[in-house]
Amino acid sequence: MHVITEAPNAFDFIVVGGGTAGCAVAGRLAESEHVSVLVIEAGISNPGDVDAITTPARAFELRGSKHDWAYKTGMIDRPEYTRIEKPNTRGKVLGGSSCLNYYTWIPGSKATFDDWEEYGGAEWNWERCKEYFYKPATYFDDPKVYSPELKYIGAGGPIKVSHSNLLPETKEFRDSLENAWVEKGGEITYDVHNGTMRGLWKSTNSIYNGKRSSSWAYLEGKSNVAVMAGTHAAKLIIQNNKAIGVEVIGPNGQPQQLRARYEVVVSLGVYESPKLLMLSGIGPKETLSQHGIETIVDSAHVGQNLLDHPIMPHVVRLQDGIGLDHHLLRAGPEKDAATSAYLWKNKGPYTSGLLELVGLPRIDDRLMQYPEYVAAKEANGGKDPFGPGGQPHFEIDFVPMFSDAFQWHFPTPPQGDYLTIIVDLLRPQSRNGVVTLRSTDPLEQADISLNFFSNPLDLIALREGVRFVYDLLGGMGDLVKEEYPWPMPLTSDEAMTRQILERSQTGFHPCGTTRMSKDIGQGVVDGTLKVHGIENLRVIDASVIPVIPDCRIQNSVYMLAEKGADMIKAAHPELYK
Ligand SMILES: Cc1cc2nc3c(=O)[nH]c(=O)nc-3n(C[C@H](O)[C@H](O)[C@H](O)COP(=O)(O)OP(=O)(O)OC[C@H]3O[C@@H](n4cnc5c(N)ncnc54)[C@H](O)[C@@H]3O)c2cc1C
Repeated sequence: MHVITEAPNAFDFIVVGGGTAGCAVAGRLAESEHVSVLVIEAGISNPGDVDAITTPARAFELRGSKHDWAYKTGMIDRPEYTRIEKPNTRGKVLGGSSCLNYYTWIPGSKATFDDWEEYGGAEWNWERCKEYFYKPATYFDDPKVYSPELKYIGAGGPIKVSHSNLLPETKEFRDSLENAWVEKGGEITYDVHNGTMRGLWKSTNSIYNGKRSSSWAYLEGKSNVAVMAGTHAAKLIIQNNKAIGVEVIGPNGQPQQLRARYEVVVSLGVYESPKLLMLSGIGPKETLSQHGIETIVDSAHVGQNLLDHPIMPHVVRLQDGIGLDHHLLRAGPEKDAATSAYLWKNKGPYTSGLLELVGLPRIDDRLMQYPEYVAAKEANGGKDPFGPGGQPHFEIDFVPMFSDAFQWHFPTPPQGDYLTIIVDLLRPQSRNGVVTLRSTDPLEQADISLNFFSNPLDLIALREGVRFVYDLLGGMGDLVKEEYPWPMPLTSDEAMTRQILERSQTGFHPCGTTRMSKDIGQGVVDGTLKVHGIENLRVIDASVIPVIPDCRIQNSVYMLAEKGADMIKAAHPELYK
């Protein structure tokens, strides 16, 4: 790839947004050396030079940095409780959120992707997507700890993935948690990549050899990809319902028009892709009229159907010396040793994504205590609404360190070792998040409302997820000390609900705002990710996801990008003989 500030004539393809999906699409389209691809990216073009991005254990430092869009977001808007927060993190850098995320590499359950077919048609189910979950990655197990069969996770893709670096510093914690999990009847697993996910998983991450792996790797060595960094997309150029280019605001603040001979691909992510469509006249007519924008396609679902996983973080103090706080958070001999081990030997705590163990449980018995849940199950034809195909109810992340990225309202404790537990509800019933315009200024952030807990059933589920975790912690004996900053009021539903309303956060997995669909009455793009009503225009990023994956979503976003790129290639056989 090469970085440019002024664009020549025209490109074959323009990819608007050089994030996770955008770089993957651009890199695949550039596989024919005769094809020219332009990537427009608002952030910097050299993430590999930023230590906080490349060093795994420094990921939490990126929140609120200049590489974070830091969106102001409505979290909860219930009659009795409203909360608006900032920053909601998204990557503003080449590689996008793949440069700021927390690494977990996991596809999701077969049953969840089979649900996509109702929206995207026969191409979008587990069987038809499976190969694309594996295509982005190359799996490494240099120490040869795991089964050789796990090679199927990926071979030949640019994203380097490996199982968590199991640090000696956290062994006692790991052993104790695993024992407690097994004592409760759970299983331990190394493999969640085949469409079934259950148990306590030794996680796989987009980290290899002590370095973050992110989507800009797709562009390495491709001289036919040009990147315009520090450049904001302002509006699509549309003539006779055909996309022919994009208007941008360059690093010097000047507008510029760029032309695409074949297609424009919008990959700005879940908050910016619907915004660009609306600024370009594609969106709900009423909204566009309110802002004086001429409607080209009245597309009611643009910006609607925003989904995300609500999480409930909580913290307990561990026995001194068991966690990573001394090695990574506080100045002292342990931190000096960790810094020097990373600098000189590329080893030690800084090589870790910090998440070694992830729990994927179901809690049917607990939910069945609630008449509200029983009624919802009955209304759903007798199927559990939180996991109708047997999917796990929660992803539970166990980070053996105080992690402010999930609870920025509490100060980092000045001493001691801590465990941050994140309970992530995987199939929330609240499904009415919205992204809409604040103004016609392309540099002004959209109005974002996640609308967590609009369906109170999600509050019940999170309460019980947290209680499940406390039950588990009870099995870890003396290793677990007091709670921080205060005890969870486990015996009162009302007080726990209050805690959840006040402390819950985004799991950072938003999707759905330009969802795929059979027609414009159901969504924004069709099963080939083309925007309904406009030629030569596709959206390829997390916003086309119609049903939220039942886990973290980067593997799904890469899958979409790989499959979308193949669809574009198939549409232009003259370019890809
Ligand atoms: C903090 C955090 C932690 C996460 N942890 C995990 C995890 O552990 N595992 C996992 O699977 N998933 C995780 N995710 C989710 C996952 O990383 C994202 O869902 C995925 O990367 C989104 O990809 P995308 O292509 O849709 O958007 P992005 O990667 O965000 O790409 C959008 C790109 O468009 C650019 N852009 C936006 N607007 C404009 C504009 N107007 N002009 C020009 N450029 C623009 C952005 O700068 C960005 O580069 C995490 C996400 C975050 C934010």
